[in-house]
Amino acid sequence: MILSEKFTTADRKLLGVVRAELFQDSPILIEVETNQTIRDDGTLVLGCRAGPSLDMFNLFHEMSHLVEIDDARIQQYGWGFKMGREVNIPGYPTFYEPSTWQPSQREIRVMAYQANLMKHFGREMDFAYCSTLFKYMVDHYLIPHGERWLAREIERRSELPKYSFEAFQKEWLRKNELL
Ligand SMILES: [Zn+2]
Repeated sequence: MILSEKFTTADRKLLGVVRAELFQDSPILIEVETNQTIRDDGTLVLGCRAGPSLDMFNLFHEMSHLVEIDDARIQQYGWGFKMGREVNIPGYPTFYEPSTWQPSQREIRVMAYQANLMKHFGREMDFAYCSTLFKYMVDHYLIPHGERWLAREIERRSELPKYSFEAFQKEWLRKNELL
């Protein structure tokens, strides 16, 4: 049994609005129960899942990842993210270790887009909540700042034209044409 939160009626309605506005001519499939995956035929699938939660916050997050990522990785599972450098110690299983906080820096940029995407659809981004999600990042112990800084930095970036809804939309359309 999959332990999962229910997808709310409000979110289902909002999904309809988002579909109509941004997925009309898109080759991307939406599957509520999915996070991000690539089908065998190369179709990109985005969904509303993150761990046990199913909500529009997660879909907006994945959409923002697509917009932020470089073109070469748009059709890779998990956006082609690596866990860091490979570490091999004789006698131990191979493990991966991040050496920079680049993954978290990327999340800040993704969340800056996400804030404006959500705002466009009438949802407010809770920056303080976002800052608490960084503890789940592989490189969390390398982030040289605390949660207060993270919350402010996401908000600060979201106010830059680079991360505006217009910028998001332009890049969303361009990426969709590449898919
Ligand atoms: Zn992310």
